[in-house]
Amino acid sequence: MTVSDNISKIKEKIACVCLKSKRDKDSITIVAVSKGRATDRIRESAQAGIVDIGENRVQEAMLKYNSSQLINHGSQLIRWHMIGHLQTNKAKDAVKIFDLIQSVDSLRLAMEIDKQAFRIGKIQDVLIEVKTSCEESKTGLKADDLIEVIKKIATLNNINIQGLMTMAPLSGDPEETRPNFKALRELKERINESRITNRQLQILSMGMSDDFQVAIEEGSNMVRLGRAIFEI
Ligand SMILES: *Cc1c(COP(=O)(O)O)cnc(C)c1O
Repeated sequence: MTVSDNISKIKEKIACVCLKSKRDKDSITIVAVSKGRATDRIRESAQAGIVDIGENRVQEAMLKYNSSQLINHGSQLIRWHMIGHLQTNKAKDAVKIFDLIQSVDSLRLAMEIDKQAFRIGKIQDVLIEVKTSCEESKTGLKADDLIEVIKKIATLNNINIQGLMTMAPLSGDPEETRPNFKALRELKERINESRITNRQLQILSMGMSDDFQVAIEEGSNMVRLGRAIFEI
């Protein structure tokens, strides 16, 4: 098995769910989560056509971003996604390399990203991370606070809110995560109906290696896959 074989299998599975759910398979973005993996693996993923790369630590991502291995293989084509918790003091580095920061979970962090993006003349695309499970350990904004916080973030000039992201609780049974995914889709619909953002939210980033099919059934258009792609 190679990374490329894994990606082919995943694409078949996605095509199958999309057929059942009457969705366009090309509307699903696969983010290859390469945290803790070597840059060689990222290159293999990019060569197999997956150029969206997810990392959860700024420092690790910067090293990979600057690695000659990737630069020599077209790293400029890679779209970098920040998917882990982002500390405010790392926002300055994060805006330099990430195309999409998926883990904005507070107004304070959004304001810092806005400030740092302004300094380098960038409009930073972000997703708002929402906590859809009641486990204390899960990161993200509480659904109850979401509308109020998004209203405020929407006023920041150097931030563009593209959508929502959630981490479902880890569970042996992917069906158990369905309510979390459904909740995120409904929140997105509510936000779009209330027109509190300048543009309609487009992205729903939900689903990982064990539950991406269920997530797609519930409306996900961005799945974040680590093990499914890189365990060979
Ligand atoms: C690690 C990670 C993933 C990928 O998890 P797998 O189970 O390996 O697919 C997705 N999203 C986030 C936020 C992660 O930290």
